[in-house]
Amino acid sequence: MPELPEVQSVVNHFKPYLLNQFIHSIDYLNNYEKVFETHSSNDLNKHVANQKISKVWRRGKYIVIDVSNGHLCIHLRMTGQLQVGCNKTDNTNHFTALINLKNKSKIYFKDYRKFGRIYFFKDLSILNYRLGPEPFDSSFNYKYLKTTLAKSRGMIKPKLLNQMFIAGLGNIYVDEVLWQSKIHPEKPCNKISGIKIKRLFNAIPIILQKSIKFNGTTIINFSPGNKTKGEFANYLNVFGKQGQSCPKCDTIIRKIFVSQRGTHFCPKCQKL
Ligand SMILES: [Zn+2]
Repeated sequence: MPELPEVQSVVNHFKPYLLNQFIHSIDYLNNYEKVFETHSSNDLNKHVANQKISKVWRRGKYIVIDVSNGHLCIHLRMTGQLQVGCNKTDNTNHFTALINLKNKSKIYFKDYRKFGRIYFFKDLSILNYRLGPEPFDSSFNYKYLKTTLAKSRGMIKPKLLNQMFIAGLGNIYVDEVLWQSKIHPEKPCNKISGIKIKRLFNAIPIILQKSIKFNGTTIINFSPGNKTKGEFANYLNVFGKQGQSCPKCDTIIRKIFVSQRGTHFCPKCQKL
């Protein structure tokens, strides 16, 4: 599933196509009106038709497109991708929606598994209620991390995956930041030392920023736009590396399941 760096890469790729343009209409495709989560097609178009796009940004794993009377939000879920125009070789059965701009540009929403959704919100209170602080925001600081973790006896990995605790992290980056911080994924949050929390606090924005620089990680379906690939897969240290050597200590990286999620770690660097 696309995580913060992947969604930010999509935003960075599509911003030049969308910003300051006017929306003509939004269509659902292949009879899949379900792609519109909050409105019927008619109602959604009443809100967005003829509206100018004033900002394209990201909140958690949502792509947010601001228009004057609200926010059009897209969640890519497992396999959603955006694409400018349609090619002869595309399997159009996988297209779920189409944003028509007044300048005649067409942005397709392509989604093999069809879990991706489009929302319209008058204001972002619903999103802000569902999502914790952004990792690059000042509200995500060492004090927040330390005091919140101290209150939790649960394991650190599911805590970091919880979008209400911190927005945007998913399975790949949680494994990477925990390895970088030398924290075992099953470590109870309230048992993590101050030094390791400090390392974690530093590692999260650094690793995310580095991934954004390389357009995120393409492992299976993700594409930042029009068949380009995210190159951060070349810089992963533990995710998907079970059976290979830890880059820090040469111990063989293990894969276990933590809260049903495949989890990669070094048993020597990350002691429980
Ligand atoms: Zn190691």
